[in-house]
Amino acid sequence: GKWGCTGDEQIIPPEIDTTNPSIARVYDYFLDGKDNFAVDRQVAEMALRIVPDAKDAGKANRRFLRRVVRYLAAEEGIRQFIDLGSGLPTQGNVHQIAQEIDPAAQVVYVDNDPIVLVHGRALLATNGSTTVIQADVRDPEAIYADPALRGRIDFSKPIGLLLFSILHHLNDEEDPWGIAERLREPLPSGSFIAMSNFFNAQDEHPEASKQAVMVEKLFNENLGTGRWRTREEIMRYLGDMELVEPGLVPLADWRPDAGESWEKSATYYTYAGCVARKP
Ligand code: SAM
Repeated sequence: GKWGCTGDEQIIPPEIDTTNPSIARVYDYFLDGKDNFAVDRQVAEMALRIVPDAKDAGKANRRFLRRVVRYLAAEEGIRQFIDLGSGLPTQGNVHQIAQEIDPAAQVVYVDNDPIVLVHGRALLATNGSTTVIQADVRDPEAIYADPALRGRIDFSKPIGLLLFSILHHLNDEEDPWGIAERLREPLPSGSFIAMSNFFNAQDEHPEASKQAVMVEKLFNENLGTGRWRTREEIMRYLGDMELVEPGLVPLADWRPDAGESWEKSATYYTYAGCVARKP
């Protein structure tokens, strides 16, 4: 936390609900962050009982994000990023990674959880190329029309849209495929979508698939969200976009850095990511 203590010892702004778990805060706990409350830790600890290496999965997701942003900035020349469902600031935020390649890279963070805004403002004070807005992924038009986003993102140049561990928090009834299409459509040609998703590997890895079904149940009963989607379901987010090699793979298998490893447990195969280019 900002004052070096756990979430529950801080002065809590009125918009923060500490009686229900929040996705951003549960995830923060998996990343060993301090911006979480007892109610969040309870859900996380329940998940850790079924998936003891869930924290490794969270950290693998952040490493995947680092490799992807570096790839997009260094190899594809992307200089503007929208990080949708950005979560709480952590080690290796998108602007820090992108600005290692080009200090002028622009980043807009979007999240619907007020706690992200509270902490994002502190981050902003020190960086002139970054904006945090509070908005809901289920309303893509409002996100793209937001004046703060428009002030930073030029829709005539390629954009890197980051959808890391966000669409799996939408239920099927909320039509994540329709939402993905509405997010995709306004992006200029040469843009990229990068995503990580809870993954049900089905026949590819039956043990992992069994675990996915179990954790999905636990998440839905306690957090009210979390869908482990199949390869086909995830690919459907991308329409006619072209997958960058190596395609949709377990997070650690996407262009790993030398020496990077994570034990190939069932969990390894329940979390997948990809990068795709808009023709
Ligand atoms: N993208 C980060 C990453 O992958 O490391 C954080 C992922 S975290 C698991 C999911 C984030 O999505 C949370 O911060 C949560 O508040 C946000 N989120 C969930 N539902 C959302 C929605 N409907 N609109 C915007 N953000 C949402």
